[in-house]
Parts: sequence; structure tokens; C-alpha cells
Amino acid sequence: MIGIVMGTAERSDVAEEKLKSVLEVLDERPIVDSALLELLRWAAGYYHHPIGEVVASALPTALRTGAGTRASEERWRITTAGEQACARDEPSRAPKQRRLLQELRGAPRTPHELRERLGDSWRAAARPLTVRGWIESALAETGDAAEIPSAPQPGPPLNDEQQAAAAAIQSGLGRFGAFVLQGVTGSGKTEVYLRAAQRTLAEGRSALVLVPEIGLTPQLLGRFRERLAAPMAVLHSGLTERERLLAWREAFSGRARVVLGTRSAVFAPVSNLGIIIVDEEHDASYKQHDGGFRYSARDLAVMRARGANVPVVLGSATPAIETLHNLDSGRYTRLTLTRRAMRAAPPRLSLIDLRAHAQSGGLSTPAVQAMTAHLAAGAQVLVFINRRGYAPTLLCTACGWIAPCTECDARLTVHLAARALRCHHCGADAPLPQRCPQCGFAVKAVGQGTERVEETLTSVFPGVPVVRLDRDVIRRPGELEQAMHRIASGEGRIVIGTQMVTKGHDFPNVTLVVVLNADQGLFSSDFRAPERLAQTIVQVAGRSGRGERPGEVLVQTEFPEHPLLNGLLAEGYEGFARTALAERRAAAWPPFSRLAAVRDSAASAEAALAFLTEARALAEDARGVHLLGPVPAAMAKRAGRHHAQLLIESRERGGLHRFLDTWLPRVQSLPSARRVRWALDVDPIELF
Ligand SMILES: [Zn+2]
Ligand SMILES: [Zn+2]
Repeated sequence: MIGIVMGTAERSDVAEEKLKSVLEVLDERPIVDSALLELLRWAAGYYHHPIGEVVASALPTALRTGAGTRASEERWRITTAGEQACARDEPSRAPKQRRLLQELRGAPRTPHELRERLGDSWRAAARPLTVRGWIESALAETGDAAEIPSAPQPGPPLNDEQQAAAAAIQSGLGRFGAFVLQGVTGSGKTEVYLRAAQRTLAEGRSALVLVPEIGLTPQLLGRFRERLAAPMAVLHSGLTERERLLAWREAFSGRARVVLGTRSAVFAPVSNLGIIIVDEEHDASYKQHDGGFRYSARDLAVMRARGANVPVVLGSATPAIETLHNLDSGRYTRLTLTRRAMRAAPPRLSLIDLRAHAQSGGLSTPAVQAMTAHLAAGAQVLVFINRRGYAPTLLCTACGWIAPCTECDARLTVHLAARALRCHHCGADAPLPQRCPQCGFAVKAVGQGTERVEETLTSVFPGVPVVRLDRDVIRRPGELEQAMHRIASGEGRIVIGTQMVTKGHDFPNVTLVVVLNADQGLFSSDFRAPERLAQTIVQVAGRSGRGERPGEVLVQTEFPEHPLLNGLLAEGYEGFARTALAERRAAAWPPFSRLAAVRDSAASAEAALAFLTEARALAEDARGVHLLGPVPAAMAKRAGRHHAQLLIESRERGGLHRFLDTWLPRVQSLPSARRVRWALDVDPIELF
């Protein structure tokens, strides 16, 4: 068994005969340095998760199954005595041994090469030769494939704001400080990151850069590669185990001076860390939602910077409400970029009242008119809808049957090109029926997804090329690059896409953005839904008017008088955030309180609720916390299992954790805890 030594002690509570000896120490130096170990211990405490699993999640799987921290390979060579024996044609009566000796006379060989030349029996032949001292083996270090940097490209000159931001971060190097780089899309945040990283490298230290999704940020990755004269290691979930090990080794050995990666890269072994940069810090993908160990990489990045006594830069056009609260309270320092590159004015935002205008295929008349005008002016148009597929519902107009997912409390989405009905929650896939399975009447696809909007756009604007961006058409990074090229070259005139279009790509010739349906985010049981909606609208709006032409953004809604939309319209994200913070304060939601959720799932709704009810009963005498629930999840049945949650709320962090410290062990020992799958989520960002 391979284990990790966390510490040593003179005595143990475990009986001596049950203790095992360490057979072999695999690593020459600790694979986790003391600062990182401290972060992992802190995370285990804060997220109330076993330290073993926390440490395991920070290491590549290959390390835990015997791979070394350095790439090395066994090499066999002949000794001087062996050379002399070979010259005497010895050993005369062992032809296999003689062949091996002759083979090694040419050059040292790896086991792989020897097997190819001599077959599997070479090891048997090697043993007597080793005993006689004629051949020997040693481990030789092989260089892992480091990304060799080409000569760095010079950057563009900075404007005053960028200069001020870069200077503030540079003068903060060498000590802890949290900077929020709040810059509208196109204001050149990346350029500020690059200057901060360059200075860090020049001081002989390394940089850790976190991004939400590698596949969606090829431009950022490319710019870091081009501009920094330093070997870089890239860590993300799309790597094979072997690739992950290689990248980890590059960071561990200190060869890589820049480590860039997604969520779990916050645990990368960066030696001599000098700065941490978190791009798009508001992005939900920094939160680990699944599995046992649920953490926020953004929050851990701040903790890691504090422990390492280095600055952390949190960049976003739309900072999370929590981050804005940390600015208000003076814990973080704000750096603002208000000016867009190329001097384009900020996009103009307006609402289209869906109750007052005719619409066809999800597109209202004013939206079509605006698109016609922008296309006639030679510009490109971006249409955003946060739903893929053809239509979200398949309905029988005679009996009212709706195609359901049998495994979830969800409707199946129509995928017309694939002739399939698919569940976007569990992945269930069924052929598309022509007739109602209940009464035999014809069925009808109701509502819009990207696939259907693409069809509508093609018929409303015949001959105008449309590019679609969603997970159904873009499955590999290469396909994204191709689609981007078609948009950048101007070949595609209309872009229709999901959330994918809001992330990091420049569309300089897009002057009109149409948001087809903003209303899903307005009325949700999750208090964070409005924040996500506002961020999406601002991010998607940021795609427009980045050239010399100003942009226009049209948001279709049935609720044009909604305060959130109007706050956004009148004052932008700042105005929205102020209202949202006031609402959260009044309702005592985070960041004005602390939350933890216990979520479980079971084969029956009763079992899911029973465990949480018993867990709650253990907290009857709890002080300083409020328990809400248990309640079935908003979508109670998913992938055949029933989900429920119990929410724990406290006015302050200490109270929450003191409660969890005493309560969780008792919950763990409940017999019903073994009949369900459950996990604790501290600081949940989605409430179901
Ligand atoms: Zn029917
Ligand atoms: Zn399903």
C-alpha cells in the first residue's frame, strides 16, 4: 500500500501489533511543502472533510500508485569486467547471457529496448551477469517534456488605468494582499495579469494562474505562452493521467515557472510562489460541486496567497457579490479598468417587452428589425439563449402528454438533427417519437433551444451564414477554434450560442447582442440566480462593440418592470450589485450570514428525507445556528435517485464551524447515514 506520512509520534492509541512499518520511503523530499500542507489542513478543517481525501485530491493519481516525483528510467550498462569477459567470448555455455552482454556492449539499454531485441527472457539472463559484476543497472533521470518557450513577444503600451493597476500589484509583491481587478470586457485585464507575472518572474519567483475552463480560454493561454519567457505547466481536467503527472512534475521540480490551470490547480506544487491570479473569479466552475470534497478554488487561492505571503489578483468584469462585499469592508483592494481598448463606447442596453410584441420562433419583431439593420451595416450579430437542443418540451396537443425523463423530474429535450429525446440532467437518450405514445395523436415541439433558433434565423435571414456555439456542435477544443475562425474571419454573420459565447472570446465586429430569454433567472428559489443572470447579461453584452463601433444589447423579457433588470439598465453591474447586496443584507443571506448544506440522495424520497430529519433532530439544542429543512430538492428526482437537502445558517463563521464540529460526528454515526449518499457543502453556491 502507498500512503502519505503526515507526521510522526512517540506513542499511539492503536495497539502495537496493529501498527505497520514503513517499508520504503518513495520520495527524496516531501511531495507537499509545508505551506501547501498547511493549506490542505486548513481546507480539511474548513470543509469538514478527512485530510486523507483532501491531500489525495491535490495529487495526480499516478503518484498515489507508485509513480515517482521525477521521471526516471532503469538503464542497463556493461562494466569494464563485462567488456573483458565479452572479449573472451564468455560466458561460453550461456548463449542468452552472451547475447545480452554483446547487446549492452553497443550502448546502455532500457528494459523496453532489451525486451524488443532479446524477448522477455532477458531479465533471467541479466541476473547471473549482475552477480558476476559484468553488467549493472541504474535509474537515470529523463527530462520530462517541458514546454520550451520561444522568444517572448513585446506587449502593447498600457493605458493610464492599466498602468496604475499593474503598478499597484507590482508594489504589492512580496506580501499578502487581495486585489480585485474589476474591468469591463475588453478593458485589457489580461495585459495587467501579464505585467504582474512578468515582474514576479523577473524577481525569480513563480506564478500560479487559475482559469475557469481551459477549452474556453485558448486566447488567454496563447497570450501567456507568447508573452512570458518562462516554461509553463498546464493542468486541467482534460489531461490523461500521464499528462497530469508530467505537468505536476514540471511544477514540482520548479522547471515550470508559470503554472496555469483550472480549479484543482490551486493545489499545484508551485515552488517559490510569487503571485496568484484568478481570472473570471465569479465563475461557478471554481466551486467543486460533486464528490465528497467540495471546495471553492477562488477562496482557497486567497488562503494560499495569505499563507505564502504573496498577492492574489481576482479579475472579473462582474465580481461575485461576496467579493464586492470584501471590497466594501476594506479587506480587498479595488483596481478598476473602465476604458475599453480601441475606444469603443460601452454597449447600450434596452429591454423588449415580450407581452407587447409579436414573436415568431422566439424572436420578437423589434429584435428582427434591429438584426436586419445591423446586418445591413455590415456588422455581425450575436444571439444568446441559455438552452441547447431544438425545443425543451415535446407535447401532445390532444391529450396533454409531455415527454418525461423516467429517471428525473424533468422533461426530455428535443434534439431534431439527432432524431432524439435527451435528458440534460441524467443523459438519458431515446428515439424521437412521431406520434403520442399515449393516444397516437401527432406530437409537437414547444419552446426554443439553440438548434431551433438556428433554424429560425436561417429562414428569417436567408443566405446569411449562421454559426452555432453549444455543447452539441462543439465537442472538442479544435472545433471551437474552427468556429471562432469562421466568426473572426467574418464568414459567419450571425452567432447563436449558449453560455459558451459569454466566456472570454473576442468578437470585435459584433455590434448587436440579443438575449432571447432573461426570465428564467428572475424568479428562482435560489437567491443567487439573479446574480448569475446579471453576470450573464453583462458578460454577453461585453462581446459586442469591441471594434470602433459601439454595441447595442436587446434583452427580451415578459417582466420589463422587474427592479433587477431596471437596475442593470440604469446603472450597469455596479447598480445591480448594490441592490443585490442590500437585499442579501435584509434577508440575512451570504455574505451577511454563513451557510452549509447537507445534501443526500436515496432510492426513495422517504429515505432521503428520513436521514436528514434524524440529522436535524440531533441539532435540537444547537445555539447560534438556524436549520432550514429538510426539503426535497427543487428537482427531487435526478438520474433515478431522490435528492433532499438540509440547510444550516449562522450569523457568523465561527458559530457555524463550532456547530459542525460537534454535530457532524453524531450525524456520521447515525445508522440511516449508511442508507443514503450524502455530503456536506460549506458555502454552497447553488441551492436546489
Ligand atoms: Zn396524446
Ligand atoms: Zn433524466
